[in-house]
Amino acid sequence: MIKFQNEFTRAEAEAIQSEFRRMKDNIYLDHAGTTLYPESLVDAAGQVLKENLFCNPHTCKVTGDIIDQARYRILQHFNTDATEYAVVFTANATAALKLVGECFSFGEDENNSGAFYYCQENHTSVLGMREVVRTNRLYVLTKDEILKNLYNTTNGISEHGINGQGSVGEGDTRKCNSLVVFSAQCNFSGYKMPLETIEAIQKNGLLVLGTQIRGEEDGEDACKDSNFYICLDTASYVASNFLDLRRYKPDFCCISFYKMFGFPSGVGALLVSKRGQAVLNKRFYGGGTINIAMTRLDFHEKRAQFSTRFEDGTLPFLTITSLLEGFRTLERLVPPTLQLKSVQRISAHVHQLAKYCHDSLAALHHTNGAPLIEFYNYDGYDDVALQGGVVTFNVLHDDGSYVGFAEVACIAAVHNVQLRTGCFCNPGACQWFLGLSNADIRKQFEAGHVCSDFTDLVDGLPTGAVRMSFGYMTRASDVDKAVAMIRDCYLTTAAERLRIMERAELPERLRHVSQRLKPQLKRICIYPIKSCGAFEVTSAWQLTSSGFKYDRAWMIVDVNGMAITQKHFTRLCLIRPVVKLEEGILELRFPEMKPAQVPLEIDDVSRAKRIDSSFCQSKVCNDLVEGLDCGEAVGQWLSDCLEASGLRLVRQNAERRTQDGVSKDISLANQAQFLLVNRASVRWLANKVETEKEPLDQTVDRFRGNLILETASAFEENSFEEISIGGVNFKMEGFCTRCQMVCIDQHSGQKTNEPLRTIAREFGGKIRFGIYLSLKEQPAENTLVSCSEEVRIKKQEEHSVEQ
Ligand SMILES: *Cc1c(COP(=O)(O)O)cnc(C)c1O
Repeated sequence: MIKFQNEFTRAEAEAIQSEFRRMKDNIYLDHAGTTLYPESLVDAAGQVLKENLFCNPHTCKVTGDIIDQARYRILQHFNTDATEYAVVFTANATAALKLVGECFSFGEDENNSGAFYYCQENHTSVLGMREVVRTNRLYVLTKDEILKNLYNTTNGISEHGINGQGSVGEGDTRKCNSLVVFSAQCNFSGYKMPLETIEAIQKNGLLVLGTQIRGEEDGEDACKDSNFYICLDTASYVASNFLDLRRYKPDFCCISFYKMFGFPSGVGALLVSKRGQAVLNKRFYGGGTINIAMTRLDFHEKRAQFSTRFEDGTLPFLTITSLLEGFRTLERLVPPTLQLKSVQRISAHVHQLAKYCHDSLAALHHTNGAPLIEFYNYDGYDDVALQGGVVTFNVLHDDGSYVGFAEVACIAAVHNVQLRTGCFCNPGACQWFLGLSNADIRKQFEAGHVCSDFTDLVDGLPTGAVRMSFGYMTRASDVDKAVAMIRDCYLTTAAERLRIMERAELPERLRHVSQRLKPQLKRICIYPIKSCGAFEVTSAWQLTSSGFKYDRAWMIVDVNGMAITQKHFTRLCLIRPVVKLEEGILELRFPEMKPAQVPLEIDDVSRAKRIDSSFCQSKVCNDLVEGLDCGEAVGQWLSDCLEASGLRLVRQNAERRTQDGVSKDISLANQAQFLLVNRASVRWLANKVETEKEPLDQTVDRFRGNLILETASAFEENSFEEISIGGVNFKMEGFCTRCQMVCIDQHSGQKTNEPLRTIAREFGGKIRFGIYLSLKEQPAENTLVSCSEEVRIKKQEEHSVEQ
């Protein structure tokens, strides 16, 4: 039984809920984005504005005093005071980080400066500091590389020869300064970094330096004698955790107050330790930050008071007055107890919710036993010290493939559940938890994916995840509803999901996602010359009674009149036929050869025949086929390409005669008129292949399908009875049994072990992949098929489905 232990009393819970009646039946689960403001906070803040005459703090002292009061209150909240920390108001946490990036002094001498170290799992706003820091030595550290310092008590030389100063305090005496940035709580996974690392690094420097990404590797200019400062990204942490600055003393902390209170937005703060104040040097000055500035002389003097020096221009003074109400309201709604502060109770509450959510989701499995959810966290949900109120995950299909997060976003939108999808401005954590290589990320970018779009899958790999995060007003019943939504939508069929999505009006930016659940014709390929390369149709293509026009209308025969195939001539796939409709020719291309050409139509062949072509017969799969020889020139060209003498190109003459004499309209294709390959099934297979990885469409090409379909899940095609593409009806004829032909890379002509090995392993000998289709009715003249047509599927009865 999955339990939820309530942190709040019934009365407290009711008082909290009465503040959020505007939620109605919405379920809000994006507290890592922002928490919600309680009604009484807005009222109280409005009341303060109504009752006071606030004006520009540079003019009136009352306003200035309120602002200073806000500073004291903030410091008090973090268990510290003005003797230890300064509060610099900023626009938000990002602006605070930028200020540190621009102003941190890495050393007097630019050529002998300290380095900038950042954790790979950092917010984009930390990554941006790379572009403004005044050092060209940048290093990235993994979370474990930071944790290594936890138990480092050595004073002095670490393994890379970088020293810390041995003790933390004023008067850092080393030659240069280094800055290390990491998050107190990761906004992607909710992981909380043990804050003991702060002092360990300040005292002893970094035990390992991570990976240098800019600057010369330990170059001449590398300062070997550095003080270490910590910039702790507390934007996510302070929203639902107690940051005790009496106990942990980062040099810089950044805050966005809307994440703590929901209101007001537009104000944040940079908290700077006494030690940090000594190494923050500002260049720019704006109104209010100087003692004097002379216009006709290059002279100015900045204010002595630290905060004032860094607050350029007029502060958002009305907004800042509301902060005091923010603290008051929180303490009223979540009263402190003897043991716990308000924020510590909130911390326990959101952690309980996250654990409850995680455990409920983890209990969900597909009918085949496969898990429904893949979670992204480090240490599970048992320890509130290591995990915050965040659950980040992706949903999986029963074959282990990913459901794109955009689809979950659609489902959530339909259910009035507000959650966040994507990478949450934390690309490093995203890459790490999703296990993506730099090459994967580059490929996703090249495929058109950019931050915060809804391109959720590229070649089956996710570009992001789904995040649910909790606040003090979140209830266990909210979690239940969100979990039920995931369960009901993903332990069912794609068709059912589509019905659910179409139940409500989706926002414009998500509308394309529901389309994705419908089967789509992705590509049409014909193989004009049997066993040679594909010709991919770019627009619509014409149907004949025997299949696609020109599909397998030619073949190559050897001196004995036998059709040759890729089985013996793997390089056949390198012969690329191009149908040039307007010119009436079939052009044959081969690497490093001048192209050859033959006429498309039989009549033209016959005319050419007068010179040197002859009537011939060939056997294709035990059927006798009659054809017309396309002539000496192209025959010689083929012999040159394949280095085999006496090859001839033969154009199929008329209907093919089977051995029993009955004519069958299937050109030279092996079994039926059309081969349909499902890209989703190939993706499933490609993801199972462990070695010899290649781009998905390269694997698709190995299956030499005519119709490349994409359905919501793999192997749906196996249960098709009929499929209609823009009104043309096809009927399922049977499964395609795969031979070693699929091991020929159609792009290089090379033989590989995969994917046959994986097919054999996964299907236990029954090697079938793709289905054969035939036309249900004779096509009318000039019937065209194109990828833009709507695809409709009629499935067989359950019992006859067999994979
Ligand atoms: C939200 C957040 C930020 C940025 O906050 P802004 O208010 O957008 O400036 C930075 N870091 C973390 C960890 C965050 O959660």
